Amino acid sequence: MITVADLRNKMAELCKEIKLYNPTSDSELLLRAFDFAAASHGEQKRDSGEPYISHPLAVAEILIRLKLDDTSIMAALFHDVLEDTAITKEELTEGYGAEVVHLVQGVTKLSKISYASKQEQQAENLRKMFLAMAEDIRIILIKLADRLHNMRTIQFHHSPVRRIEIAEETLQIFAPLAHRLGIFKIKDELEELCLKTIEPEKYDALVQKLAERKPEDEKNLIAICDNIKQILTEHGYKAEVKWRFKSYYSIYKKMERQQKDIHEIYDLNAIRVILNSVNECYAALGVIHTMWTPIPGRFKDYIAMPKQNMYQSIHTTVIAAKGQPMEVQIRTQEMDSIAEFGIAAHWKYKEGSGGMAQSDKKVEWLRQMLDWQAEMRDANEFLDSVKLDLSTDCVYVFSPKGDVYELPRGACPIDFAYRVHTQVGHQCIGAKVNKRIVPIDYKLNNGDIVEILTAKGSGPSRDWLKIVTSTQAQNRIRSWFRKEKRDENIVMGKEILEKEVRKSGFDPDELLTEKRLIEVAKKYNMQGADDVYAGIGDGGIQASQVLSRIEGFKREQPAQTPKFTAPKQTTHNGVWVKGVQGVMVRMANCCKPLPGDAITGYITKGRGISVHQSDCPNMQYYREHEQDRLIEVGWSEEIDGLYQVGLEIIAQNRDRVSIDIMSAIADTKTSINGCNIYVDRKTGNGIFNIKLEVKSQQQLEYIIARLKRVKSVLEVRRSSPGRQTE
Ligand code: MN
Repeated sequence: MITVADLRNKMAELCKEIKLYNPTSDSELLLRAFDFAAASHGEQKRDSGEPYISHPLAVAEILIRLKLDDTSIMAALFHDVLEDTAITKEELTEGYGAEVVHLVQGVTKLSKISYASKQEQQAENLRKMFLAMAEDIRIILIKLADRLHNMRTIQFHHSPVRRIEIAEETLQIFAPLAHRLGIFKIKDELEELCLKTIEPEKYDALVQKLAERKPEDEKNLIAICDNIKQILTEHGYKAEVKWRFKSYYSIYKKMERQQKDIHEIYDLNAIRVILNSVNECYAALGVIHTMWTPIPGRFKDYIAMPKQNMYQSIHTTVIAAKGQPMEVQIRTQEMDSIAEFGIAAHWKYKEGSGGMAQSDKKVEWLRQMLDWQAEMRDANEFLDSVKLDLSTDCVYVFSPKGDVYELPRGACPIDFAYRVHTQVGHQCIGAKVNKRIVPIDYKLNNGDIVEILTAKGSGPSRDWLKIVTSTQAQNRIRSWFRKEKRDENIVMGKEILEKEVRKSGFDPDELLTEKRLIEVAKKYNMQGADDVYAGIGDGGIQASQVLSRIEGFKREQPAQTPKFTAPKQTTHNGVWVKGVQGVMVRMANCCKPLPGDAITGYITKGRGISVHQSDCPNMQYYREHEQDRLIEVGWSEEIDGLYQVGLEIIAQNRDRVSIDIMSAIADTKTSINGCNIYVDRKTGNGIFNIKLEVKSQQQLEYIIARLKRVKSVLEVRRSSPGRQTE
């Protein structure tokens, strides 16, 4: 069995290896860190029975293969120390510096994430959260190395069920993360270990079959590589030519996807040609295409168009010896190291600088990625990647059960509550974050576990609208108040109307029957008595107006007798024309009169009578010039049609104002026929021209009153009649 002393020797060996890529590395410090970590873990053992320090050392070794700096290596050695031993943050800081501790704490934080939920979209959220949470990309690299070593030793885990769970989690979260960061070396190995754990029989069969054909394949590949190398040398290019088998997992996936046996899959291997410059890469491509025929449609130029994870290479597939397709990847040395180490390749220790500048850390990589992305044709892909990688516009938090929720940055527990469920939002009375009670306007951080405290029967507070950041929460709070206020408004409206009735000397109980109120409601295009009361309550309708429209009230009020005794010969559109029957009547387009407006008729030439508002500018013209064509008209008692009308609304141009305007109109159950919005260049205000269908001038007044109460609305008016056309 391996001992701590053996492991220390191994560490000493590794220190020499580090010196090769980082001559300024402090071997003494690294060995001291090893001793400290080994002592801290003391007698702790891994499931394999080895001393615990074998694990942190293995994690450090993985990072050394990625050529990371001393700080990362020390953090790897300490990565389980704060969590699993009695050592404190202060002790560690004193001995090895704040930067190391910062990395260790980051890894510890990521370890606490619950992966309980295994739904696909959550896996994507988790990956995003990883990127968002780790302010330093090295934290993710350590975490990946940690997972890689745990997967390498998964067979020692005592629970078979847990083994498979860990492998599935790795396949869903960690392997895609490694892919995203371009670290193919780790991605490939993780996937293979997962396959071995989840499908051991299929994995063994695959290994067996590949082993059978390997010698033959190898012979061919060596010959092809030699061939390429020779011809490139003849052309004056110094090239490194190597080959590799594709990863077991990708072969497995291909077989599953194409339902094929291993013998039917040709491109199991790829040849890599590594040159000194980009120019040479394109030149080599030309040479290779003259040696063998390329397969059309298989050529990909990731040098000109790098992949999101920074991968760069030219890919081409040619018909090589024996008529078999063969993929050739052509790239420079630097591109080759990026292909293997991804982001870690950018993380290489910078000689003489003693480490990375703070500003370098995540920013440099992201900026580079963005520069490349900016040249990409596909704008959507570009935006997606920016969204995902910058992730600064959102936070990822958990429910106590481990479900991940994405919320806008600055979100508070109320936003979270409404995201979970509308009722949870309404009944929210407080919240715990990471098991501690927090104020309701607490700003959530990545990785917070949020628990909402609720009480039946409680409701939102108006102040919440100032706190929440998600549109969803805002909408739900607003609609709660609209409904809630409705009840209050009904009560208040009823009181106001009854008072008005009593003032007129009537008995409310007698006059305000359900039937009469429904009649009135119809005139406002409302459903029932409650709508009328609510309308009065919220100030949209005048109680006196309603009163004048109640049937019984009108009859017993001689003063209210209409000026014109309405003849019964109602014609089109609910308008009677004095002394004429059956004549065609239509509403003038210029002023679009509504029932309730004062109106005057104009006898057109052969198109019947057009009805204008009495104060329409066109009517003024007619009065002066064509007095004899005017005719007295009026609204009939029974009106059932809908009338077109235009509204002009001026509002401050704030976020959501158009939604609020539209929903205010929708609340009045009015249909919108058209809408035109533009911004006034001078004032910056939004101008809304909206066409509506209404029953009467009263309904329109109600809508206008309603709109005037929408936040940021400055002015609401009926569109002024046009002057030229009627
Ligand atoms: Mn660990």
